[in-house]
Amino acid sequence: MKTWRIAVGGIQHESNTFSAHPTPLGAFTRSLARGDEILERWRDTHHELTGCLETLQKHGQQILPTITASATPAGALTPEAFETLTGELVARLTAGPRPDGMVLAQHGAMVAAEYPDGDGEVIRRVREALGPQVPLVVTLDFHTNVSEKMVANCDAIVIYKTNPHVDQRQRGAQAAELLLAILNGEARPVQALVKPALVWNILHQYTRAEPLRSVMEEAARLEAEDGILVANVAAGYPYSDVEEMGPSVVIVANGDADRARREAQRLAAWMEGLRDQLEIRLPDPAEAVRRARASTKPPVVIVEMGDNIGGGSPGDSTAILAELVAQGAEKAVSVIYDPEAAAVCAQAGIGARVSLSVGGKSDTMHGAPVAIEGVVRTLHDGRFEEREPRHGGATRGDQGLTAVVELPTGTRVVLNSRRTAPMSLHQLTCVGIVPEQQRILVVKAAIAYRAAYEPIAGEIIEADTPGVTAVNPLRFTYERVRRPLWPLD
Ligand SMILES: [Zn+2]
Repeated sequence: MKTWRIAVGGIQHESNTFSAHPTPLGAFTRSLARGDEILERWRDTHHELTGCLETLQKHGQQILPTITASATPAGALTPEAFETLTGELVARLTAGPRPDGMVLAQHGAMVAAEYPDGDGEVIRRVREALGPQVPLVVTLDFHTNVSEKMVANCDAIVIYKTNPHVDQRQRGAQAAELLLAILNGEARPVQALVKPALVWNILHQYTRAEPLRSVMEEAARLEAEDGILVANVAAGYPYSDVEEMGPSVVIVANGDADRARREAQRLAAWMEGLRDQLEIRLPDPAEAVRRARASTKPPVVIVEMGDNIGGGSPGDSTAILAELVAQGAEKAVSVIYDPEAAAVCAQAGIGARVSLSVGGKSDTMHGAPVAIEGVVRTLHDGRFEEREPRHGGATRGDQGLTAVVELPTGTRVVLNSRRTAPMSLHQLTCVGIVPEQQRILVVKAAIAYRAAYEPIAGEIIEADTPGVTAVNPLRFTYERVRRPLWPLD
């Protein structure tokens, strides 16, 4: 195969426009990799960048690594964050040898203070830097809100096919193979985007369950057909008040624009026809804890939907914790982001009796602080490793200084210092908690936790809790989304 110069990079963020916490440049610093650092940073993970890089290396291609950066979901990017990161990405594309093609790994639900369609603007600037003739393949998360601007400024989009996202590495490989096929004259992609006129709520975004399952199976069947290069379905990210919010169908056909449009319209219409199956009927926190305590199938996982950290919430909601304490729940585990309380425990030391007011400190949308009294059982630096493919593809986690306080009921409150979405059981095992031996495990999540927790859960109870990731779209006031959109209208 001919050797091409392939640029690789990406700036990834899922921005929750209802969050009170903007995302500054500093939130990206820890993950930021530049130039050759990128090859080391993404060696042997389950992320799309790993799949992309190893595929290019396998084919002996020359890689031009630019920058890669991501931050935990939170509010929109500050102008400084957006301009600095995008500016560096573009500068690296225009300095040095000119790329023959590029794979750009975006998330697809980035909002910047001055660009509601943040990814659209990044892709537009990248296209401008590359020039119109250089093929550009973009990978996106299943929670992307795809816009026409994103589609118009690249040659092909490749979106994850799973939620929890366990196929990221394969998608990165697919994007790299597709780019090489374009460069070698074997593929001539034309794309069509059609957006179903609805909000696909987060509760029904599990790709292994209906109603999404059949849609994903149909997309896979379509992708296997001759003449179809990629058949993408994305459920969208509902916590973003932007015009393009909602699910997307992006069909990439080989040369046949009409067929791409036709198939995209067919799948989008299919999704619209499923709206009656998107019903939300979940217990409130008190009922969820009552049911969990009465269950005979421990461990019971209670899902705190309103504080879905992976969806941009603060991680310190006390909606479920308050009920665990009030009802005297035994052998429950709840992780609360509270660096202040963790520091107090570290000061007190292991074995010390502490009296704390925990959680509910980030804003007023996620409950009030809860008073607890107990004994500090564990202090830990919060680092853990994960070898299995989990949502997000990461192999390392770092929840910062972490303290475990055991209450008289045997319930343990894990106080950490970095917001950490529950993608890995090792978030608990690293602080001495054996998840299988608990009665109740509380996760601040929606779907993504399932890759780690489903194998050990006796029962799962999803709870309708308040917050910036509340499950029901009707709880939010949208001003910028396109209308009409079911169920808002
Ligand atoms: Zn996602």
